[in-house]
Amino acid sequence: MNTQTLTPPAAGDDLLVLGTLRAAIDHIDHELLQLLARRNDVARDIGLAKRVAARPVFDATRERDHARTLIAAARKLGLGDGLARQLMQLLVRGSFAHQLEAEPEPAVVEAPADSDSFRLARCEPGRPRTVVHVGSARIGAGLFEVIAGPCAVETPDQIGQAADHARACGVRIVRGGAFKPRTSPYEFQGLGLEGLKLLAEAAHARDMAVVTEVTDPADAAEVARHADMLQIGARNMQNVPLLRACARTGRPVLLKRGASATIREWLCAAEYVLIEGNPNVVLCERGIRTFERETRNTLDLSSVVALRGLTHLPVIVDPSHAAGRHEWIAPLCRAAHACGADGLIIEMHPCRELAMCDKRQALSPGQLRAITDELQNVQVVR
Ligand code: PEP
Ligand code: MN
Repeated sequence: MNTQTLTPPAAGDDLLVLGTLRAAIDHIDHELLQLLARRNDVARDIGLAKRVAARPVFDATRERDHARTLIAAARKLGLGDGLARQLMQLLVRGSFAHQLEAEPEPAVVEAPADSDSFRLARCEPGRPRTVVHVGSARIGAGLFEVIAGPCAVETPDQIGQAADHARACGVRIVRGGAFKPRTSPYEFQGLGLEGLKLLAEAAHARDMAVVTEVTDPADAAEVARHADMLQIGARNMQNVPLLRACARTGRPVLLKRGASATIREWLCAAEYVLIEGNPNVVLCERGIRTFERETRNTLDLSSVVALRGLTHLPVIVDPSHAAGRHEWIAPLCRAAHACGADGLIIEMHPCRELAMCDKRQALSPGQLRAITDELQNVQVVR
């Protein structure tokens, strides 16, 4: 919008003038934010392209030429050199942060011992790490992907608000259960297909992707028509017909660790998906059953570390079902990041007192915001 083309209002109506000008500047600021978001996406792609071409992230000649051209262009537009330089520093630092996250890990020298039972999932010399694309997100590419949303889809308003809050935090994949595998048959079982459609509408209208759980092999194809990623829950980790059915849809699979599964059993479950010709598996550590009762499950973050040497598949962490309490989620998110996880899946409800499912562990939108803001800073510092 060009403010010079605005028709001057009647004399004395200065509030109207101010309002119009403020609207114009708000509009420009929103456009700048959108451009910055697009710039980050491109910076990440550059990082991936450099990784593929085995080129270093920092190219001194390119950076010098780029800075010179932009400062000259800024001068022509009447912007001071100081502002142009400051802006450049900020942008370039952001770009490097994105690109450095995509730096290759050291090559694997040998396959893990006794790993024939998960030969497709295991690390092998020369086998690249898997990057799973879900909408605009790339899990395993080096950035820390945060998936968030309510435990269950409840109403159009609830899921719409949840998606709005998640999007404002930079989340690109919304979670939400439509087919809920509840421990008791008397608990809310989810809205089924109707819930899935609400979830998909809410997410896709906001340019976000969807992950949701499939509990019955017969539903896999229908769920895959609406969802971008299929979740296999802890209770079903070794449900072979379900693993095969989800794999055959061709959608990426989020495979949660069974509450009493060993790491190797979990990798064998992933192998069932890979052997169907679906390479897009993301593992999710969500805590295991131990003697401990203070926490809902015991979050086994050592599995994240162990898996790095065992598999090329990305690994994310679900602190919600592990902790069982919203107050404990933030430190576990930090810990998951520090352990080298590829991301998180977290439960958040726009109004958690009303949650029909897993109320105690649901983050408020503000709590999610604090976590994503903090993790953003951690990434830049790294
Ligand atoms: C869920 O993510 O909604 C869920 C039920 O998790 P889990 O399978 O890990 O218990
Ligand atoms: Mn839940």
